[in-house]
Amino acid sequence: MGRILADTHPDAHCELDFTTPLELAVATILSAQTTDVRVNEVTPKLFARYPTAADYAGADRDELEALIRSTGFYHNKATSLLKLGAALVERYDGELPRTMAELVSLPGMGRKTANVILGNAFGVPGITVDTHFARLVGRWRWTTATDPVKIESAVGELFEKRDWTMLSHRVIFHGRRVCHSRKPACGACTLAKLCPSYGTGPTDPLAAAKLLKGPRVAELAAAAGVPAE
Ligand code: SF4
Repeated sequence: MGRILADTHPDAHCELDFTTPLELAVATILSAQTTDVRVNEVTPKLFARYPTAADYAGADRDELEALIRSTGFYHNKATSLLKLGAALVERYDGELPRTMAELVSLPGMGRKTANVILGNAFGVPGITVDTHFARLVGRWRWTTATDPVKIESAVGELFEKRDWTMLSHRVIFHGRRVCHSRKPACGACTLAKLCPSYGTGPTDPLAAAKLLKGPRVAELAAAAGVPAE
């Protein structure tokens, strides 16, 4: 299944735009309860206005909230960014630390965010258990765990550490594009033959192909052997 996922989603990557570890940390905090697309709309102005941790620490709350308002929960997210900036300045000379233990000690930072940063900004393999990842590995019976930390360690046992970050992207891509929470595209899914939950969504190939999402719908359908309409 891991190999098929790699073949199915050769374009899998972190969909948040960033150029530095700090930018990725900020983008990941903003991505709670919203889409990466929405986050990417606000971050160019945000990153230009606040290039360093000290800039977040000293930010004017009203101005910061206005810049991130469209990502939702902007009051809480602004609090996290102000506190993150202050903690980084106080404890780490304004730089993001590079270990899980240090990252999760920072305000607004859980294991999911820390794994995104470790895997994508620092090249340290990490498994990112978001809502898609948890749903799909459950459907695939890779684990019966429902707690994200337990899911992370159970799936970690199944794959080489060096593959963890890319595996996370591929699973999340499959969740966004094929195996949706409601109505997964089972009849147009490359994992259909191996998936114990095949049939959770429509199995008719043409009906299922209509459920595929994203810029590679035609390629995804072809990879699953669904004929073009
Ligand atoms: S067969 Fe259906 S449930 Fe299984 S991975 Fe594909 S879309 Fe998801």
